[in-house]
Amino acid sequence: MARYVFITGGVVSSLGKGLASAALGALLQARGYTVRLRKLDPYLNVDPGTMSPTQHGEVFVTDDGAETDLDLGHYERFTGRPTSKADNITTGRIYRDIIAKERRGDYLGATVQVIPHVTDAIKEFVRDGNESYDFVLVEIGGTVGDIEGLPFFEAIRQLGNDLPRGDAIYIHLTLLPFIPSAGELKTKPTQHSVKELRSIGIQPDILLCRCDRPIPPEERRKLGLFCNVRETAVIEARDVDTIYEVPEAYHREGLDTEVLRAFGIEPAGAPDLSRWREVTRRVRHPEGEVTIAIVGKYTGLKDAYKSLYEALVHGGVANTVKVNVDWIESEIFEREDPAPFLEHVHGILVPGGFGQRGAEGKIRAATFARERKVPYFGICFGMQMAVIEAARNLAGVGDANSTEFGPTSEPIVGLMTEWTRGNALESRSAEGDLGGTMRLGAYDARLKGGSKVADIYGSQDISERHRHRYEVNTDYRERLEARGLVFSGMSPDGLLPEIVEYADHPWFVGVQFHPELKSRPFEPHPLFASFVEAALHQSRLV
Ligand code: GLN
Repeated sequence: MARYVFITGGVVSSLGKGLASAALGALLQARGYTVRLRKLDPYLNVDPGTMSPTQHGEVFVTDDGAETDLDLGHYERFTGRPTSKADNITTGRIYRDIIAKERRGDYLGATVQVIPHVTDAIKEFVRDGNESYDFVLVEIGGTVGDIEGLPFFEAIRQLGNDLPRGDAIYIHLTLLPFIPSAGELKTKPTQHSVKELRSIGIQPDILLCRCDRPIPPEERRKLGLFCNVRETAVIEARDVDTIYEVPEAYHREGLDTEVLRAFGIEPAGAPDLSRWREVTRRVRHPEGEVTIAIVGKYTGLKDAYKSLYEALVHGGVANTVKVNVDWIESEIFEREDPAPFLEHVHGILVPGGFGQRGAEGKIRAATFARERKVPYFGICFGMQMAVIEAARNLAGVGDANSTEFGPTSEPIVGLMTEWTRGNALESRSAEGDLGGTMRLGAYDARLKGGSKVADIYGSQDISERHRHRYEVNTDYRERLEARGLVFSGMSPDGLLPEIVEYADHPWFVGVQFHPELKSRPFEPHPLFASFVEAALHQSRLV
C-alpha cells in the first residue's frame, strides 16, 4: 500500500515547492523506496498548454503527450521516473469531466456539488494507479488560502481520514523572512499560514521553512509551539547555490528522517547520496567555462526555459565545465547588428517559441552562427528559423517563411495537417482548437547513417518529445540539401523532418523536438553534452 505525503505551500508563492517535493522524492529513493510524484493545479485551464510562458513558465511535455506544469520537469530530473498525463491535474480538467458526466446523465438526478462530487473526483485521481509505489508525493499548487485551491485542500483533508490511519502526512512549505531592522527571522507569517491550514482541518506534520540563514533555537521553539509541530519537524530549508544540492541539504536538516518517523518508520541507516554529491562536486568545481547565448523571446522569465537551462547545466556536468548563459531578446537583432552580442559567445541556442515577434532576430542569429562557424543549436522553432535562414541565404528562396506568421508564397515551414502516431492518423485544420492539438509527446525518428547526430546519439533510432504545430516542408529538401543543409533525421515514415545539420560546420544542429525535456543530471542528454563540448572547443578558438 502506498503512503501519501501531501505538500502544501504558504506565505508566498515561488518558494520552490516543486523542487522541494522532487528533492524529497530523491531522498526517499536514495533510501531504496519507490516514489511517484504528482501535481494538483487549482487553476481553471484544462492544462497549461495555452498559457503564456512569460506568466506560467515552461510547459513540460510528457511521453504520452500531456502538456503539464513545469514542476513535472523537476520530478523527472530528480527521480529519473518519466511522468505521464496521470501525474498532473487541474481544476479545469476535473470540471470538464464532471460536466460531461452530468450532461450524460451519469449523476442520476443528483445535485452536482463541489463537496462531494469535485472532491471525490480529486480523491479518485490522487489514489489512482499507485499500487506499485511505496510513497506517493502529492504537491498542491498555489498557496493555502487561495479560493480556487479550497476543493483540493478539502480533498486532501478527507483523504487523511479515508486512508488507513498513519498512511498520510502533510508537509507545509513556508517562508521565514529576515527583517533587517529587527535583525531577525520572522515566524509570524508561518504561524498565520498554519492557522489558515488548520482552519480547514489540516494539521501539518512537518514544516519546511525557506530562509536565507540558520533558524535560531528560539524561533524553532516558537514555530513548534505555535504551529503545533514537533521541534524536530521544523526543517530549515536554506537557500543553496545549486538545486542539485537540495536533496543533501534537506537530508542534513533531517527531512527524510522526519518524514519516515511521521509514518512510524524508524529510519535504517542513511540514504545513498553519492551520485548527488558527484553532480554537485562537478557543478562547484568546473575545470573550465563556456558562454552560451540563448536567443529567445521569453527571456524576461527564466522559468519559461526551465528544462532548457537545466539541460545546459547537465551538458556542463558531462564535460565538467561551467555553462554561463547570456539571455538575449531576439528582437534586439531586428534593430541591431548581432555581432557585438555574439562575437564572444561559444555557442548560440535558439529555443522553442511561438509567433512572429522576434522571429527575424532569431534568423539573424542563425546566419551569424552559420557564417562565423559558431556552434548553433536550434530547438523546434530554432530549427525552423535555421531552415528559413538557409532557404533565404543559401538556396535563393528570398521570400522563404513560415505559415505560422501568415500566408506566404514560399512556405518553407507549414502547418502540419496530417501525421501518424503509431498506426493512427492525426488530422488538424487551421480553424481547430489551439489547446491540446499540437503534435505532442514522444515520437520515433530515424537518423541518417554517418550523420553527426547519429554519431552523437550512438544510434540511428531515437525517440524524443514534441510540441509543435508546424513542420519543415520537404518540398524544399532537395534544394536545401544541395546547399549543404542535410536532413539527417526523419520520422520513420520518412515524411516529417526531425533533424537538420550542416556537414561543413563544426556544430550546427536543428531539431524539431525538445531534447531538453529528457535530460537529467545523471544522464545528460547527448545533444546537450555534445553541444557544450563543441562550445568548449570554440572557447579555445576565440
Ligand atoms: N511555433 C512552432 C510550431 O508550432 C514551434 C513550436 C516550438 O518551438 N515548440 O511549430
